[in-house]
Amino acid sequence: MPISETVLDLFARQVSARGASTALWSPPYRRSFGELDAQAQELADHLVGLGIRPDDRVAILLPRGPEQVVAMLAVLKAGGAYVPLDPAHPVERIDFLLRDSGARLLVTDQRLTGRPTHPVERLHIDLPLPARPAAAPPQRPAVAPDSLAYVIYTSGSTGTPKGVAVTHRCVVRLVRGLDEVAVGPDDTLLMLAPTAFDASTFEVWSALCNGARLAIHPPGPVGPRELGAELRRTGVTVLWLTAQLANLVADLHPQALEPLRTLVVGGEVLSVPHLRLLLAANPQLRIVNGYGPTETTTFATTHPVAPADLDEAGGVPIGRPIGDTRCHVVDPEGRPVPAGVLGELLVGGAGVARGYLGRPGLTAERFVPDPFGPPGGRLYRTGDLVRRRADGVIEFASRIDDQVKLRGFRIEPGEIRAVLTQHPAVRDAFVTVSGSGLATELVAYVVPVAPGGPAGGVDAAQLRTHLGERLPEPLVPGRFVLLDRLPLTSNGKVDRRALPDPAAPTASGRR
Ligand code: AMP
Repeated sequence: MPISETVLDLFARQVSARGASTALWSPPYRRSFGELDAQAQELADHLVGLGIRPDDRVAILLPRGPEQVVAMLAVLKAGGAYVPLDPAHPVERIDFLLRDSGARLLVTDQRLTGRPTHPVERLHIDLPLPARPAAAPPQRPAVAPDSLAYVIYTSGSTGTPKGVAVTHRCVVRLVRGLDEVAVGPDDTLLMLAPTAFDASTFEVWSALCNGARLAIHPPGPVGPRELGAELRRTGVTVLWLTAQLANLVADLHPQALEPLRTLVVGGEVLSVPHLRLLLAANPQLRIVNGYGPTETTTFATTHPVAPADLDEAGGVPIGRPIGDTRCHVVDPEGRPVPAGVLGELLVGGAGVARGYLGRPGLTAERFVPDPFGPPGGRLYRTGDLVRRRADGVIEFASRIDDQVKLRGFRIEPGEIRAVLTQHPAVRDAFVTVSGSGLATELVAYVVPVAPGGPAGGVDAAQLRTHLGERLPEPLVPGRFVLLDRLPLTSNGKVDRRALPDPAAPTASGRR
């Protein structure tokens, strides 16, 4: 059935049904659905008064907290689309995202005022809203399922991040279609993922659109012990963790998950030994593998982990498409492959984003016409190599391209290479990953303009500073290896096998 509602419709239904129930919960802070609605509406009216119109982007630069949620809801109510920015990112990155997204306004607080330098109107959420002239009745904009809801940025292989433009329909399909992770008024979810990641779409909107409470983890890093205390304190029942964080919890404090009913894990391949540890410590726990690119709105497929998955050498499948989602496994010519044969996963349905903001070429490359469905449909080419089992369950094999996941962060090594080669002392560079599990790290192989020479010479510390000023911390390699030249294969590509071992003490700069 086509989706005819918006995120605001679903939220409004919860406000009518349970206005006095808790919506936001960060003890002692508490806001009911009714209070949250009123607070966000006041801000939304103000945003409309400032000229925010449908599809306008409004950037939000705030630490994790209730104000973030109020701001997100207010932007939607004003008809705009939020662009979540991470205060931990370098100023240069934040400035780029403000520019690239064409943000009309930046919602922030006074503590962060000095951060971005890009000239954009600011609204400080920690100051009282300026009074509106009484004569100006707030207009309520028309918001439709096709209206833009948010823009979330992911790493771009050509050197700059790309903004994924997601509509209300995409989000409604996520919060309604997750049969394996049913969320209802008896549940409490935890806001833990940075809002600049689309896992926050699941956390925030699955809770608020389904009448559940949204507990909010305090800002700052998340450790397994604090997480355990937080889950108990707020009574969280449904939690999302990246595979990396789930592994850490499993290693250090698996009992932390005791209050939970459902744990959704994903973002990268799940580790079977860690899942075993979590289940041994929490026999009541239901674990669901959640798979999906930002471009198909958080989750495309889910798989409830069964005991048999933990015995299989093949790992935990990514499962079956969630509601209003279709998956096709195709060969390089776009023809469906039979069950058991590897192919690229294409995802269609209501979760497919509009595309990349302001990048029609890239959008056309990755979002292709759907030859299998009704006319007008589009499929997102995930770049993931998968196989479909005879029973329809999909198994993840690997990436087709160089994209990697590190500590939950989606990374295109080409983006790091592009920033490295902007350094005047760098002639060429190549970035890859080495190691496995928690020891996986990025390695940059760098060819200086003048190897070792005082004029053009460059060392790891300088390169680390150069990258740290421009890229989020997870994109800064742990090791730098200086080379006279990059080894090439006979067809001119970098010969990965001929690259020196980054652990060799001679040329390597360790973090
Ligand atoms: P992101 O857009 O940051 O969510 O990253 C999406 C990519 O992460 C996918 O295309 C996959 O390569 C990988 N990924 C996400 N979830 C999973 C999962 N559950 N299992 C394996 N890979 C995953």
